[in-house]
Amino acid sequence: MAPATVCYRCDARFGEDRVRCDCGEPLWLDQDQPGFALPAEAASPGMWRYGDHLPIGVPDGVASAAGGTPLIRSRRLDEVAGCRVFVKDEGENPTGSYKDRGSAVAVSRVCQRGEDAVGTVSYGNMAMSTAAHAASEGRPCAVLVPADVPAGRLELIDQYDPTILRVEGDYGELYADALELTRTLPIRFLLSDDPWRISGYRTVLFEIVEALHPEVPDAIVLPASSGGFASGVWRGIRDLQEAGLVDQPPRLYLVQTAASDPITRAYEAGRDEVTALPPADVGETIARSIGNPDPPSGTRALTAVRETGGAVCSVTDEAIETARRQFARRAGLCVEPASATTLAAAARLTERGEVETGESVVLVPTGTGFKELGTGATPVESESVTRESLRTRIEGVDSGH
Ligand SMILES: *Cc1c(COP(=O)(O)O)cnc(C)c1O
Ligand SMILES: [Zn+2]
Repeated sequence: MAPATVCYRCDARFGEDRVRCDCGEPLWLDQDQPGFALPAEAASPGMWRYGDHLPIGVPDGVASAAGGTPLIRSRRLDEVAGCRVFVKDEGENPTGSYKDRGSAVAVSRVCQRGEDAVGTVSYGNMAMSTAAHAASEGRPCAVLVPADVPAGRLELIDQYDPTILRVEGDYGELYADALELTRTLPIRFLLSDDPWRISGYRTVLFEIVEALHPEVPDAIVLPASSGGFASGVWRGIRDLQEAGLVDQPPRLYLVQTAASDPITRAYEAGRDEVTALPPADVGETIARSIGNPDPPSGTRALTAVRETGGAVCSVTDEAIETARRQFARRAGLCVEPASATTLAAAARLTERGEVETGESVVLVPTGTGFKELGTGATPVESESVTRESLRTRIEGVDSGH
């Protein structure tokens, strides 16, 4: 039986191609999973290790390489975060972000059906991931970007050769436009919270739980923008709970940039619904991947936090930049600013006593920093020496460094 979609809030069910419920909330797949069990042995690579619980067969090409990222115990981050830190490095996906877990399911499904082109609305990681997966399947792909997209971003997306359309007008409203185009044309726009993407995102949670088994982490910290990734992680937690595989689920902590934080504001005000921020309340941020002021899955992400006993917090660009350096200098990990928020947030949460010393906390850097560095924008101090003076200089290098 083909999977249906279902609303987390009102339990209404729809066909497999619906994206949003009549109540306005986003849908996810209704996959009945009697006897969900973590696999005993890796039959397939990466996230396809959980192929029995994914809604399509194992694909070839770049989609087969999604997921299977390492969970790294990073002791030198403990001092910064104030707890026991594990890092789930999603930057190690084929296009450098967790988005590949969703594209691997959603793009492959459209391509396997063979009729439609695929598309997405993004000038960041979502665009790269969708275009790469379409290229690997030889399907046409349309990417809608804002009119003032930076040239460096276009270059990253263009390498996979999608049709890139710069769209004039309110970029935020393209979410609804793209769903309308999907209803009326032979193209399927796969947006941030597409039900088939969410199904793929669950695998990050399965991997975390399996890597730490039999311990279950006390908390998971991830950045949130549209709320799609948070929804997938929450859905993964629910799947494992329903299967009786975790008793005490990890608390879910979401982090936003202080420049655009509608989910934090709703959380702090004790509201149940996330509403769009007025343009006057939205600022610039270095964390470009998490700037959505009108998150389509914001309310669902907030519900995830409330149900798991977590929290939402915001961090400033200054704290993000400090955390980015700490990831590199203390853990050897190059993460993008949106992902560095997780370390800044963990430090805040332990300070506030929401996370206790000794608790195990999984930070999820969602994307690699390599796409943003290397432009020469950050001044770097270095010293010039002659070959003759090299020996003396090297002898003076602090051994404690
Ligand atoms: C897309 C993205 C996010 C935010 O995910 P949402 O599903 O929009 O909440 C966070 N970090 C990175 C690196 C991303 O690319
Ligand atoms: Zn509903």
